[in-house]
Amino acid sequence: MAAKSQPNIPKAKSLDGVTNDRTASQGQWGRAWEVDWFSLASVIFLLLFAPFIVYYFIMACDQYSCALTGPVVDIVTGHARLSDIWAKTPPITRKAAQLYTLWVTFQVLLYTSLPDFCHKFLPGYVGGIQEGAVTPAGVVNKYQINGLQAWLLTHLLWFANAHLLSWFSPTIIFDNWIPLLWCANILGYAVSTFAMVKGYFFPTSARDCFPGEPCWLVPIPMAGQCKFTGNFFYNYMMGIEFNPRIGKWFDFKLFFNGRPGIVAWTLINLSFAAKQRELHSHVTNAMVLVNVLQAIYVIDFFWNETWYLKTIDICHDHFGWYLGWGDCVWLPYLYTLQGLYLVYHPVQLSTPHAVGVLLLGLVGYYIFRVANHQKDLFRRTDGRCLIWGRKPKVIECSYTSADGQRHHSKLLVSGFWGVARHFNYVGDLMGSLAYCLACGGGHLLPYFYIIYMAILLTHRCLRDEHRCASKYGRDWERYTAAVPYRLLPGIF
Ligand code: NDP
Repeated sequence: MAAKSQPNIPKAKSLDGVTNDRTASQGQWGRAWEVDWFSLASVIFLLLFAPFIVYYFIMACDQYSCALTGPVVDIVTGHARLSDIWAKTPPITRKAAQLYTLWVTFQVLLYTSLPDFCHKFLPGYVGGIQEGAVTPAGVVNKYQINGLQAWLLTHLLWFANAHLLSWFSPTIIFDNWIPLLWCANILGYAVSTFAMVKGYFFPTSARDCFPGEPCWLVPIPMAGQCKFTGNFFYNYMMGIEFNPRIGKWFDFKLFFNGRPGIVAWTLINLSFAAKQRELHSHVTNAMVLVNVLQAIYVIDFFWNETWYLKTIDICHDHFGWYLGWGDCVWLPYLYTLQGLYLVYHPVQLSTPHAVGVLLLGLVGYYIFRVANHQKDLFRRTDGRCLIWGRKPKVIECSYTSADGQRHHSKLLVSGFWGVARHFNYVGDLMGSLAYCLACGGGHLLPYFYIIYMAILLTHRCLRDEHRCASKYGRDWERYTAAVPYRLLPGIF
C-alpha cells in the first residue's frame, strides 16, 4: 500500500536540493511526512515479525539451550511441529502479571512522586528540573530528571532483599522470564495504542503535531491525516505525538525510554548471574564482565539523563510503537541475551581473552562518553570551551522553527566530531562487540546484539543526516565537506 500525500502536508525535499528554508525544516524535523515503499515495507515487516523475533530468541534459549538453528532444524527434519514448540512455551501466569504490575507501578511512583535529591549531594550530577531542546513548534519542555535516583533506590532494594530481607529469590526474573515476556508485550502494545489514540483525539502539544496550524482548528477525523503521513501503519509505528504527556510531568518518551526497560537491564543481568550460581555453583568471569560492562553503560545513561534530553530519541522521534513496544519488550529481552546465554553456557574465559574483552569494552565506552561529552560541552558553552586542549573549530548554522523564528546553532568540527560525523556510534559499537565476545564462540545467539546495533546505528546515522541536511541545508553541506566520513574514516 503506497502512502498518499496529504493536502497541506509540507513535502520533504530531496537531499539533492536541500535548503533550510521554513517548509523544509518543518517537513523534515521530527519524523517523515511521507512514506517511501522501503520504509513502509520495513514498518510492516517489523510490526508483523518483531514480536516473533523476540519470542524465537527467548524460546531457543529455553527449549534449545540457545541454539538458534535448533527449532528450525527440528521442524524441517520433522522432530517437532510448531504446535509442539508452542505447547512447551510457558504461558502468562498470575504471578508474572502481579510481578510486572508491581514493577511498573513502582517505577511510575519513583518517576512521578519522588523529586530528585541526588543532584543535591552528588558533585557533577545534573538532575532535578531540566529543560529539553527546542521542539519543532519552538516549545522548550521541562523534565523532572530523577532516573539515577530511581535506579539507585531500585538496586538498593534488590541488594537489601538478596542479603537481608529475602522477600523473593534473586532468580525471580529468570524463573519467570517467558511469562513476563507476555506481560511486557501487553504493556508495549497498550501504551503504543494509547499513544496513537491520544495523538488523534487529545494531543498534549497540538502545535508540535501540525506546524503552522493548531490541531484544534482541524476536524478530528482529519487531525491524524493532517499531522502525519496518512498511513496507519507508519503512524502507529513511528508515533503521532512528538511529546505525549499526562499531566505536567509524566512524559511518555522519558519514562519509557529509561524506565522500566533500562532500570530493569542491570536487574535482569543480576538475576541471570544468580541463576548461573544456582545451577553451576559459581559465577563465571564472562558473566561478571557482561554484568560490569553493561552496568557501566546503564549507570552512564542515568548519570547523563539530562544530556539524553538532547539526543535523537527525545529531540526528534515521535512516540509510537517503535519507542513504546521497543522499550518494553525489545530492549529488556534482546539487550540482555548475553547474560541469558551464559546461564545455559557458563563460559569461563582465559585471562588474556577476559582482559581483551574488558579493554575493548572500556575503550569503546571511553570513546562513546568522550565524544558525547564533547558535543554536549560544546553546545552548552556555545563553543566557548576547549576540545582536546584547543579552541574548537566551528561551523555556524541556522534553521527556522514552525513558529517562524530563526534560530542559530553551531556544529563542532574538532575532537571526535572532526574524525567522523558519528564517532560516538563507533564507541558504542566497540562496547557492544565486547559484550558479545565475552560469550566466546560457541553460538551465534549472543552476537545478535552487535549485528543489531550495527544496523541500528548505521540506519540512525543515515536518518539523522537526512534530517540535519533538511534542517541546516547548506550549512550541513559545509560540515560534510569538512568531515567527509560518517563512522569510520576512509571506509564509511
Ligand atoms: P547524537 O548524539 O550523535 O546526536 C545527533 C544530533 O547531534 C544531530 O541530530 C544534531 O542535532 C547534533 N549534531 C550532529 N553533528 C553535530 C556536530 N558536529 N556538532 C554539534 N552537534 C551535532 O545521536 P543520538 O542521539 O542518536 O545518540 C546519542 C548516543 O546514544 C550515541 O552515543 C549512541 O551511540 C547512543 N545510542 C544508543 C542506543 C542503544 O540502543 N544502545 C540507541 C541510540 C543511540 P541538532 O539538531 O541539535 O543540531
